[in-house]
Amino acid sequence: MINVTKSYLPDFDEYTALLKGVWDRVHLTNDGPLLQKLEEQMKEYLGVKHLLICSNGTIVLQMALKAMNITKEVITTPFSYVATTNVLLWEGCTPVYADIRPDDFCLDADKIEPLITENTQAIMATHVYGNACRIEAIQAIADKYNLKVIYDAAHTFGARYNGEAILNYGDVSTCSFHATKVFHSVEGGCIVTNDDELALTLRRYRSFGHRNDDYYSVGINAKNSELHAAMGLCVLPKVDELIAARKQVFGWYDARLNFDKISRPALTPGIEYNYAYYPVVFESEETLLRVVDALKAAEITPRRYFYPSLNTLPFAVPPGAGQAQACPVSESVALRVLALPMYPDLPESDVDRIATIINNHV
Ligand SMILES: *Cc1c(COP(=O)(O)O)cnc(C)c1O
Repeated sequence: MINVTKSYLPDFDEYTALLKGVWDRVHLTNDGPLLQKLEEQMKEYLGVKHLLICSNGTIVLQMALKAMNITKEVITTPFSYVATTNVLLWEGCTPVYADIRPDDFCLDADKIEPLITENTQAIMATHVYGNACRIEAIQAIADKYNLKVIYDAAHTFGARYNGEAILNYGDVSTCSFHATKVFHSVEGGCIVTNDDELALTLRRYRSFGHRNDDYYSVGINAKNSELHAAMGLCVLPKVDELIAARKQVFGWYDARLNFDKISRPALTPGIEYNYAYYPVVFESEETLLRVVDALKAAEITPRRYFYPSLNTLPFAVPPGAGQAQACPVSESVALRVLALPMYPDLPESDVDRIATIINNHV
């Protein structure tokens, strides 16, 4: 059985050695020493100013909206995981979908401006599969119209753009440390910003807006535990090795797949990629379904990701928005894209088998 992802697990004794310290201290959560240590190591690894580790990669997006007082229209991508849209709806914002670029499936900066109204407050874009959006073009529009930029950078851990961590861009970037991601702490996430005041607000939000006898503001519980931090501390030193192993798997697919009838998304110039996913795009959904059946018959489980295009989810489109929300590129790609198994210890012989099945069924 080969799944689309497989979590990296550190040496068991290395993990339990850290747990021993937790048992000794009886400090289980609430900004504990392991969490603080992970935050410091991660800031250094990524080269970012403020980084707060939180409970997952969804709540950090909600905190970002709340901290910047965003309650109205947000121009966003229809090609992302449903969490991106969910947070907008959950926080009472109106998602306005701009279509994606046909080459890399990230938000198309040229589609943003016509959608801006007096109610537009922010742009929320996803760095799709860990590849960078057109960051300069998006920032130029944000500057022109005084909009905030929030990046759902859930896929980008370890990826760099123009020599800097992708997480360093935008007013706020967020990452997920879910078990399926390039770096993980079982569950977890972080929020990154260069703004001192925003960082303080977010730090307070993370813990109910409350510290000692001070109640600063409304808040939420977005804390993460020492047990999660221990996993993160074991995985972080391995990230470069894990990315190198992913790169090798990526190369094996590239060498074996027949690209006459399939394609894969382009990488943005300036990216140092983290090889988070290996998506392929077929000529039609019919071909995709045929390939999925053939893979499943061989006990290989790929994932339709991202699918469906978020602007087509009935609950995700505000009433009356109608045709204005059509995103033909995203709708077409979402029907035809498939994420193939991709993880650091996927054997070359399995990549060979997967590629052969795909080549024989397109
Ligand atoms: C994984 C993911 C999330 C959600 O992260 P969690 O840590 O699972 O809450 C959000 N957006 C994207 C693009 C993701 O891939």
